[in-house]
Amino acid sequence: MDAYNELIGIYDEISTIGDISSLLGWDQNTYMPRKAAAGRGGQSAFLSKLVHRKVTDPRVGYLLDRLEGEDLSGTRAAVVREIRRIYKRKTSVPEELEAEIARSEPLSVQAWAEAKQKKDFSIFAPNLEHMLELKKKVAEKVGYPDIPYDAMLEEYEPYTRTAQVREVLERLKKRLVPVIERISEAEGQRIDISGKFPREAQESFCRRILVDIGYDFERGRLDTTEHPFTIGTGDDTRITTHFYENDLRPALFSCIHEGGHALYEQGFLKENMHTPLGEACSLGIHESQSRMWENLIGRSLPFWKRYYPDLQSAFPGLSALPLEDFYQTVNRVRPSLIRIEADEVTYSMHILIRFELEIEIFNGRLDVREIPQAWNEGYEKYLGVVVENDGVGCLQDIHWSFGSFGYFPTYTLGNLYAAQFFDAMKKDIDVEASIERGEFGPILTWLRSNIHEKGKLYPASELVRVVTGKELDESHFIDHLRNKFGAIYGIDL
Ligand code: ZN
Repeated sequence: MDAYNELIGIYDEISTIGDISSLLGWDQNTYMPRKAAAGRGGQSAFLSKLVHRKVTDPRVGYLLDRLEGEDLSGTRAAVVREIRRIYKRKTSVPEELEAEIARSEPLSVQAWAEAKQKKDFSIFAPNLEHMLELKKKVAEKVGYPDIPYDAMLEEYEPYTRTAQVREVLERLKKRLVPVIERISEAEGQRIDISGKFPREAQESFCRRILVDIGYDFERGRLDTTEHPFTIGTGDDTRITTHFYENDLRPALFSCIHEGGHALYEQGFLKENMHTPLGEACSLGIHESQSRMWENLIGRSLPFWKRYYPDLQSAFPGLSALPLEDFYQTVNRVRPSLIRIEADEVTYSMHILIRFELEIEIFNGRLDVREIPQAWNEGYEKYLGVVVENDGVGCLQDIHWSFGSFGYFPTYTLGNLYAAQFFDAMKKDIDVEASIERGEFGPILTWLRSNIHEKGKLYPASELVRVVTGKELDESHFIDHLRNKFGAIYGIDL
């Protein structure tokens, strides 16, 4: 067997173990009996050890060396580039350090949960300090082009440097702050929806929307969990949501959001499965898919022109509420404390606050103990909200407790990628007409051929260039917000 095919064979095994792990993860979050947790922990740890051993196998290094300098085709070159990247990263971190992180994680998550519940950051601070130390060691081991934070970002947004992200987010911030101020000054909307929205009716409406946008229920399923998520890939891509009977919006929009993630995973080419070409380009690109479906499509006026009459039939309590008013209630802008409840306009500020803090922490300019104060100052400065306690402040997200530094910026990159892709799509097809007819085929086909089927063929920045003809530019997102919310609030943004 030649070196390339042998390498692909090893990667196929690694990827298969990954599929098994995510299935176990899905079960753990949905139907697993409570007392099965310890056993499941052992199973998952075993599989991750197995993956680590396979990824760092010296044979992989040998095969990569043999392929070095070989003239490979575009797709093969991308496959080898990706396997080399992972191999380098995994082999540079000593096993003892990996194990120490794995050991610290559950304790750290536990401390975070307790701290959040008691609204007291000091309970979590020692664990966070320790986790940070470990992650800084990882950064030193894997190396970085400019600053240690680059090594963290690399995990989620490969080939993207902090400096690049900082530049685009700085520009975004400058343009977003006045937009938020103008909207906050505008007269607030007083209409809201209330009433009872039976779970069964919500579920059947959500399922119907998912089918309409192209989610394949024969290759996936919908279940309920505390927090919605998407797991798996290809022919087994599952999503979850959470139904609240006093409000239909959370389930509806989380289904469309997770549906967007799932369409990406269901959209990889069959022949590329279990290779890097059958995997998401980056977390930011993944998020661009969920946010495009949720915000640019699902929260648009054409979408509700099509679906609001159906929603009213499913929920007769809405029959007295006009379309325009309903549209406003799903697009309310209100600076708030909690990131996951934030609207389309203010969301990115939540991320900017975290991104700036993470860089300061990683550069050693901010001590862990100073986080609550810095956090609260950020919220007051950028969103004009007062943080009453750490529980709704710097302890609201789980990410830091398991050492996921560098993850947050991918959410905002997702917003920016989505808006730029959407504008490119509009040049090729009549997007608005498709949405208003509830015919999403042309949109999905465009996404499939331009983004989904590419997998990891290009790094994210290059994918953006290939698809849109230019570098990532925050203008698309800003213009979208100005047009949409200027019209909703009747102001000139
Ligand atoms: Zn998402």
